[in-house]
Amino acid sequence: MAKIAFIGLGHMGGGMAPNLAEAGHEVRAFDLSEEALGGAVEKGCSRAASTEEAVKDADVVITMLPAAKHVLGVYRDQVLGKAPVSALLIDCSTIDVASARSIEEEAAGLGYTMVDAPVSGGIAAAASGNLAFMVGGSDEAFARAQPILDPMAKAVIHAGGAGAGQAAKICNNMILGATMIVTCEAFVMAQKLGLDPQTFFDIASQASGQSWSMTTYCPVPGVGPTTPADNDYEGGFAAALMLKDLKLAMEAAEQVGLELEMGEEAEEEFEKFVEAGGGGKDFSGIIKMIDGSWKAPPKE
Ligand code: NAD
Repeated sequence: MAKIAFIGLGHMGGGMAPNLAEAGHEVRAFDLSEEALGGAVEKGCSRAASTEEAVKDADVVITMLPAAKHVLGVYRDQVLGKAPVSALLIDCSTIDVASARSIEEEAAGLGYTMVDAPVSGGIAAAASGNLAFMVGGSDEAFARAQPILDPMAKAVIHAGGAGAGQAAKICNNMILGATMIVTCEAFVMAQKLGLDPQTFFDIASQASGQSWSMTTYCPVPGVGPTTPADNDYEGGFAAALMLKDLKLAMEAAEQVGLELEMGEEAEEEFEKFVEAGGGGKDFSGIIKMIDGSWKAPPKE
């Protein structure tokens, strides 16, 4: 069993780290937020006073942080040179491909093995150990990372070399963002044309309009499986995070000289929804902007 330093115990990390403790690993947790750290400690992790303390004799370091600036800052200031060079470094945050590649290169330059391992699946999948991990790194790094990630995963897939996990993640989420918007548009139009939403679901989910956004995550309350739509679009995958991923996808497209109309359109639509106050709602809540029923929450 490994000594694992787990940094970042928010919505995702707070569910993931206890699954490693339950699998028998010694998990030393740290988060800047006392509330987040306390939650992980209650669920079987041990408390570290800082990232440096958590990583100092770790076999594995796992990070689950909001964005690239946090990841680069934590690795450069508190992990590289502080964790033993033998430690395997695993960043599970969603960040841009270029930052992932550059921090993996810096780590390799100091003798560390590092992988990017972003996840698909939301807060519930994090808590229940059902995430899909997309791993970027060498064959040897993947072979080391896989058994560590297993207790948190329903699938651990080797995407390719450094940064390939992040590349797979943003390409996947570009499909998700765009299919969710067009699924919402189709349901709104179906209703205006006099179709019952359940009947339309029964037809389209068996026909060529079928997609994950339709059958697994239907944006209409009371239709299909239970989804955030049934809870006033609370919980689930926040629209602000979808916007973040679409921005990363568009940045990556620009870097490789591509103009992607559908991806750009999806980014613009989620930008409008977030500007209208929908950032904290599940991303399928964008249906309310499309059907005109969206009311911005009062400002705090
Ligand atoms: P979150 O904001 O809930 O959690 C991040 C945690 O990192 C916070 O508790 C914060 O206090 C901590 N943190 C920030 N800087 C730190 C530092 N310097 N040292 C220690 N702790 C620090 O975010 P989240 O929803 O858990 O998402 C984490 C990552 O996972 C993001 O990159 C996100 O894009 C990705 N992701 C999220 C979801 C989701 O549904 N929430 C799904 C897939 C991927």
